[in-house]
Amino acid sequence: MVDNKTRICPYCSKTISKKAVVCRYCNRDVPPATKKATENSAEDFGTKKWNVYGIYSTIEIVKDGFSWPAFFFPPVWLIVKRLWWIVFGYLIFFILMKGIVGELAEENFQLALIVGLLADIPIRLLFGFYGNRIYSGKLRREGFIKYATIMANNKKSAIAKYKK
Ligand SMILES: [Zn+2]
Repeated sequence: MVDNKTRICPYCSKTISKKAVVCRYCNRDVPPATKKATENSAEDFGTKKWNVYGIYSTIEIVKDGFSWPAFFFPPVWLIVKRLWWIVFGYLIFFILMKGIVGELAEENFQLALIVGLLADIPIRLLFGFYGNRIYSGKLRREGFIKYATIMANNKKSAIAKYKK
């Protein structure tokens, strides 16, 4: 039963004290109770949705929606997020495109420019739209679980709200 004094352990699903920092059934560190963050929307304000993923006390905040960093700086974003297979794929794509565009540019510079952009923009859009979802999937595979969903205008304020 869940009431004001208890909550569910995110690891073993048993009922534990709301104030518990270690689950008494499975002995794992449980995230601090986040009544404000998980329960309701009355206090929620802000325009963007942020998912808080965690494993023990390690927290990762991932925006739910379009990722501008992934759109503007795909390689940097991929490396920061440690998405190695995609870094590898992107590198191969980049080398191939550079070769094709380079060849074309010798004959027709404008055409090369258009081909380059046509290849580059869809890839960026793909990372922009799916980047955060791909990263969330990676976190889940690593054992992270979703602690909370928070509405906030930016990441800093999302973190502040979560820690409140
Ligand atoms: Zn437990």
